[in-house]
Amino acid sequence: MNPLLDFSGLPRFAEIRPEHVTPAVDELLAACRQTVEHCVTEGVEPTWADFVAPMEDANEKLSRAWGQVSHLHSVMDSPELREAYNANLPTITEYYAALGQHEGLFRKFKALKNSTSFASLNSAQKKIVENELRDFKLGGAELPEAEKKRFMEIQQELAALSAKFEENLLDATNAFSHVVENRDDLTGIPEDVLEMAAEAARMDGKAGWKFTLHMPSYLPVMQYAEKRSLRETLYRAYVTRASEFGDTKLDNTPLISQILKLRDEAAKLLGFDNYAEVSLEPKMAETPAQVLEFLTELGQRARPYAENDMVELREFSSKEIGVKDLQAWDIAYASEKLRVARYSFSDHEVKQYFPEPQVLAGMFKVVETIYGLHIRPSSAPTWHDSVKFFEITDHGGQKIGEFYLDLYARPSKRGGAWMDDAITRRRKDQGIQTPVAYLNCNYTAPLGGKPALFTHDEVITLFHEFGHGLHHLLTRIEDLGVSGINGVEWDAVELPSQFMENFCWEWDVVRHMTRHADTGEQLPKSLFDKMLAAKNFQSGMQTVRQIEFSLFDMHLHFDLPPGKTALQLINEIRQQVAVIIPPDYNRFPNNFSHIFAGGYAAGYYSYKWAEVLSADAYALFEENGVLNPEIGHRFWSEILAQGGARPAIESFKAFRGREPTIDALLRHNGMA
Ligand SMILES: [Zn+2]
Repeated sequence: MNPLLDFSGLPRFAEIRPEHVTPAVDELLAACRQTVEHCVTEGVEPTWADFVAPMEDANEKLSRAWGQVSHLHSVMDSPELREAYNANLPTITEYYAALGQHEGLFRKFKALKNSTSFASLNSAQKKIVENELRDFKLGGAELPEAEKKRFMEIQQELAALSAKFEENLLDATNAFSHVVENRDDLTGIPEDVLEMAAEAARMDGKAGWKFTLHMPSYLPVMQYAEKRSLRETLYRAYVTRASEFGDTKLDNTPLISQILKLRDEAAKLLGFDNYAEVSLEPKMAETPAQVLEFLTELGQRARPYAENDMVELREFSSKEIGVKDLQAWDIAYASEKLRVARYSFSDHEVKQYFPEPQVLAGMFKVVETIYGLHIRPSSAPTWHDSVKFFEITDHGGQKIGEFYLDLYARPSKRGGAWMDDAITRRRKDQGIQTPVAYLNCNYTAPLGGKPALFTHDEVITLFHEFGHGLHHLLTRIEDLGVSGINGVEWDAVELPSQFMENFCWEWDVVRHMTRHADTGEQLPKSLFDKMLAAKNFQSGMQTVRQIEFSLFDMHLHFDLPPGKTALQLINEIRQQVAVIIPPDYNRFPNNFSHIFAGGYAAGYYSYKWAEVLSADAYALFEENGVLNPEIGHRFWSEILAQGGARPAIESFKAFRGREPTIDALLRHNGMA
């Protein structure tokens, strides 16, 4: 039997082969399509049992099987698997896109909402139906024919413009390079960066060192190059990418105004006043005004700290490194010098204190203590020998969920760290289906029989992903569409993950996770204090910078007056909030792909928003003892357990007993 078609238990990773992919996808997709077509027919009652449940069953199989394929594609890629993955991806994408536009489905969901049976659904099921209707409406399903046609045209045009924006930026980034021929001009730049630059020049058949605007080349120059004019050259090239200062074919300026115009038109077709309101419709934040108020308050509170950071940097620059008139291209350089002078410690030294077994035991202990759970190693078929598998049980021994832990980098695995769901909790005829998660990182594998060692940043990342994992695993919801992380508002989904990071700054937690690789000693408190001080280095400056971008994004999509350009807007906002005013030629909007090519339009604020929520939630632990199981149980039942079954703000208030406030975040960042 094709292992991808077996849904009786855990994925059969040891047996899945590339040749299983296409037959499984074909069979499951056919079944899905057939189920959907059957469910929308006249004869089928618009009830949960007759209409929603069969589709949920069929779609779950497809997403579980395809989830296994894409997981393997991410962590254990091979040419054959990649081919099978790429061959099936368009069909899968097309199927989901068609579901979102299916008029028969929309009509039936509306009929269910208006039927007498709707009242008998549980609250999770009601939420699922309401989410479906909302998404159909935002996709234009309710528009009259002519307007729908225009709406679809706009969507296609926007997709093309966003893609072009990103392409222009990439082409403009690639179009620039700067070759340095004199070794003396490169003082300060780390050796490995220079080797890379020399190699890049050699590839072009040139002598010297070639620098580009890609981060691994650009950033070290900005941070370390002693030669000021070299930094200035690269800075100017970087901040004028895809603007009128370069190749006109790559200029993003006209794209920005077209994108904004089309977004506005689409919003008005849908009956909203502006695009910001459309963006916020499925999010936790309620109105653009609420977001602006939040950003303004945070900005006002952070600004004095940002100004202090700037004063400190200016004084340090003129007194200790001889840079008197600090310019935009000096900021990263001077900051790095200041950081080393004030808060220097070696990452390598810290790393010796964090061996994997200690870190895992410490992390599990936190979760076991605050939630009253047990985590123990278990076994399952995996995709690689180094992958670990764990089971979580409650205090009565009842299984809650399981997770794979794939910690180490390897050539067949994509970069970064992430959590993904393998199986989602739901009620089935046979009982509860318990959830399973994948946790993936890219850390250095252990060498020579010694345990792997993690940097403190890596420990934080592990806690972060485990937080996402627990959100998925500790849900108590029994309906797929809002179980675990499903259906959770986009600006609230980082709450459980960022919440977990806080424990990595808690001395009583951290010290138990440390044991020096050679001496066996705990991390010294003095070193921990240095790490803590370094954490808040320039946090005022960083906060106002994020606020500058967030305000720009929100005003752009909410109340940009006709005739005002994006560039004029960002300049105005900088005058209000920024402590660094860049040179006139800076064209930041032209490379802000988060909002013009990514999914962050009128959503950039969510970074700070989620930080406020997680910090404020964690503060209740600080007030009651950070490992307090009573507060832990409240966090579990009011936030983690709820999944997307109710609005995140209700979950937050149920846990905290009030609306979120920004104080805890400011305090955690040393701004109180
Ligand atoms: Zn995350």
